[in-house]
Amino acid sequence: MSIAENLHRITKTLPPGVKLVAVSKTHSVEEIMEAYQTGQRCFAENKAQELSAKQPLLPSDIEWHFIGHLQSNKVKYIAPFVSLIHSVDSLKLLQVIDKEASKNGRTISCLLQFHIAEEDTKFGLDIEEAEEILESKAYRELKNISIAGIMGMATFTDDYDQVRREFRHLKAIFDQLKGKYFAHDPAFREISMGMSDDYEIAVSEGSTLVRIGSSIFGARIYT
Ligand SMILES: *Cc1c(COP(=O)(O)O)cnc(C)c1O
Repeated sequence: MSIAENLHRITKTLPPGVKLVAVSKTHSVEEIMEAYQTGQRCFAENKAQELSAKQPLLPSDIEWHFIGHLQSNKVKYIAPFVSLIHSVDSLKLLQVIDKEASKNGRTISCLLQFHIAEEDTKFGLDIEEAEEILESKAYRELKNISIAGIMGMATFTDDYDQVRREFRHLKAIFDQLKGKYFAHDPAFREISMGMSDDYEIAVSEGSTLVRIGSSIFGARIYT
């Protein structure tokens, strides 16, 4: 199946209100262009330097998302153009993003990443840590970031009941934060959950952003 056919097959199954984020990490500019030519405009990468190298080579109407663990000293590479950072897991990172956004005269939208999986290798906050950030004075002073919602990754497992429970948990976290901190903020509306193997479950549990890589571009080859 070609990239175009894969995209067509996947977008057909997504209900309105769910946006496809095409995860292009490790894939070439040519492969990204093939997806672009079918009309796909939203792409995501998980390495700041890879993203900042590809961005100038590709059309300027691409909406770039960042989905990986982001080190503070790498924020400057993506701050001039990134549309949404899915992986904010500390107040310190949020402060650096705010500072770099301000230098570029921008406001950068961010998602708080939550740890919902069983593995302890996956990054992310728990609800107490998130509330601590949202209630802090330091957070309230940030002017150049906007919290647009939350993100999470389910456990890598064949047990789809477990995956569903984890996504349901993330949706419950979203509802709790929405009610408590963002009830009057329409910008807080995204739930980024679901990848190639589990996006259908994620969509049925309320995802608004699915991050799909290998089902579009094929297996990644790490060199
Ligand atoms: C790589 C990656 C994806 C896409 O994974 P696929 O299984 O290839 O669809 C989604 N989210 C994050 C955070 C990733 O790093």
